[in-house]
Amino acid sequence: MLSRVRALLRGGGASAIADKPVKAAVVSSDAEALTYDATNDTPCPPGPILTLDACAVCGGAESTKVSGYNRFVLFDRVPDAKAPIYNYSLCHDCGVVYAKQRPAGERYRWLLERFEETLGRTDIGSPRPGKFALSSAALSDDERAQLRRMVANGVFVSGHSGLTRKDYLPSLMNDRLASSMHVELLGSLLPLEAPRVLEIRSRLGSICAMLERLYGASCSAMTIFENQRFLISEVYGFPASCPIDFDAFTIPFEGRFDLIVSNHMLTHAVRPRAFLAAVRERLLPDGCLYLYNEPVEGEFLDRGKSMFNTLNPFHLQTFNQASAVRALEANGFKVIFCTVRDDLFLAIAQAVDAPNTSRERMSDSERSRRRSAYRVANDLAILRVPEHLRAPFAKDWDEIVARSLDAGVATRTKDGRVKVNRVQTDS
Ligand SMILES: [Zn+2]
Repeated sequence: MLSRVRALLRGGGASAIADKPVKAAVVSSDAEALTYDATNDTPCPPGPILTLDACAVCGGAESTKVSGYNRFVLFDRVPDAKAPIYNYSLCHDCGVVYAKQRPAGERYRWLLERFEETLGRTDIGSPRPGKFALSSAALSDDERAQLRRMVANGVFVSGHSGLTRKDYLPSLMNDRLASSMHVELLGSLLPLEAPRVLEIRSRLGSICAMLERLYGASCSAMTIFENQRFLISEVYGFPASCPIDFDAFTIPFEGRFDLIVSNHMLTHAVRPRAFLAAVRERLLPDGCLYLYNEPVEGEFLDRGKSMFNTLNPFHLQTFNQASAVRALEANGFKVIFCTVRDDLFLAIAQAVDAPNTSRERMSDSERSRRRSAYRVANDLAILRVPEHLRAPFAKDWDEIVARSLDAGVATRTKDGRVKVNRVQTDS
């Protein structure tokens, strides 16, 4: 029993829980071995697939296509032929890069249930040390009882207590420590006086717990998975709900909030304008949204990661810092603080009365610089696609090779293959 609970917590995967239906998403972090095993699985719903004719974030009409594909293009087998095709486009207005073609409704939900655990950035879905894994499997009564016994020993269990890891959940303390940066920023920059707080996509309720301890906050939390929801309500007693609908996003609690904390939501939202509107209308006057864990494009534009590998099928929007600020301003927020750490954007943004109609568009020079950078990143991502998966790029292959060799971003090896040059990074 205990091992089953631990497997569930660790995301030992559905296979660790023999009496539950297996949802088979076999994914490896090794780009050579990405695959999806459809055996015993229900088929991927053919729709809905949205085709956007304007920017998902600001409504701007003009854009430039910068990449055709998400990470599924690196898979041997995919849920269906349309799954890899997202047509990422750079909005000329706010500068966000958004998937022009994107799954919604039951199709998005089907993908999320199978691939969220395996394709998400591990440092976003779960705190790193003593990884608390996310699992969409429901908890049995026995598992609930076992978790209750473990959390009864508390969040901060001393190393000399004599308790073993069978007796408590190290993930609780690890998440508190991993989340403390956010509370340091919020406490330093906002006047927090017994605020009413909502945490969206909370991992284990840590930000709420710290805000309650330090500032007398009253808190509610929304989680993706039932085991998170259960633990937050058991450990901290906060009202907690799950799952989160990334398409028709709603807040299942009454009233308005002084602070809404949002983890990795803007990137995932099927309808980011509706998401931001739903958040904004639940903020009290002068209330703030705190966004964090929103991946920025620097990872593949500046630091040599494959763009295909980075843009997994839930990454429907990406941006640089300036674009993220314009995106928030286009949706009735005034950014009062933002920064990028480890290629992740975070911001505190205040709800303002009317959308800023005089906001600035992305400048021509920024647009032209980013279009070029995306072209290079797309070329290099294509050059790194394993040979047996290159069919979609056959038509353009020679041209891409010539362009990349000319630009000095790739080299031809002695045996005739083309190798992407390593990027010198500052991080
Ligand atoms: Zn836009």
